[in-house]
Amino acid sequence: MMIAILLRERHLRFVAEVEARQRMSELAHLNRRATVGEMSASLAHELNQPLAAIMINAESAQQILRNPAPDLGEIEDILAHIRRDDQRAAEIISRLRAFLKRDPTVRHELDLNAMVGEVFRFLSVQALTHDVELVTEPSPADIRVKGDKVQLQQAILNLAMNGIDAVAHLPNKRRRVVGRTGLAEGNLALVSVADAGDGILAERVTEIFKPFFTTKAQGMGIGLSIAHTIVEAHGGRIWAENAPSGGAVFHVALPLAAP
Ligand code: ADP
Repeated sequence: MMIAILLRERHLRFVAEVEARQRMSELAHLNRRATVGEMSASLAHELNQPLAAIMINAESAQQILRNPAPDLGEIEDILAHIRRDDQRAAEIISRLRAFLKRDPTVRHELDLNAMVGEVFRFLSVQALTHDVELVTEPSPADIRVKGDKVQLQQAILNLAMNGIDAVAHLPNKRRRVVGRTGLAEGNLALVSVADAGDGILAERVTEIFKPFFTTKAQGMGIGLSIAHTIVEAHGGRIWAENAPSGGAVFHVALPLAAP
């Protein structure tokens, strides 16, 4: 089934439906922002301390080295402090990752086509607002995976939202995001989210999954890192590439549920 939302078709029934969805979508969005916002605020706060200590230590080491006869023992001490503070910063970040993976999550058998369809329908208002067409091309196969529905939908949602961001400023015919599902060798289920945006610089295709990597003025750089954590927690893999025709494609591979 193709889901194409055309701005032209603005019947009353449609408007009412849109309004209802908008409330839902806003709620979900607020919810996502609040959690992520809270987490990143506390993370920034906690990271500030070791980062400031590292800076002070590096500055004093530089001062010491400006001496004609620098005290190398002291430099050694300072480097040990820097390592310790760095370690602490790394621990703070791994706690965040543990938080995202928290609750061992009840794993249900899920219909992948239905799940992707729901996410795309859910984003229809956001797409409408940006005049972006959302399309799903589900596989004819009945694809089942095991996992936490909310988490997996969150991961796909983040990819689709990025797709919308990537094309929202482009000319009309490029404002399109396509979600596909399929099967791959090795008992894998596949989801891909493709857009016709400017794509990703080749040297950034792995970096974009790191926490706080963003190129957007208002970005938090956490959407892809959340998607990465969720997919890996489900035994899957996520990666990005540029489509030959231009635009970015994000792929998620998940183990199929045992028959
Ligand atoms: P944010 O959207 O807040 O920047 P993300 O973690 O979701 O955070 O994305 C990180 C970065 O990855 C983006 O800032 C952008 O540079 C790049 N990116 C993500 N999705 C796409 C896409 N569909 N097309 C081009 N670049 C993308």
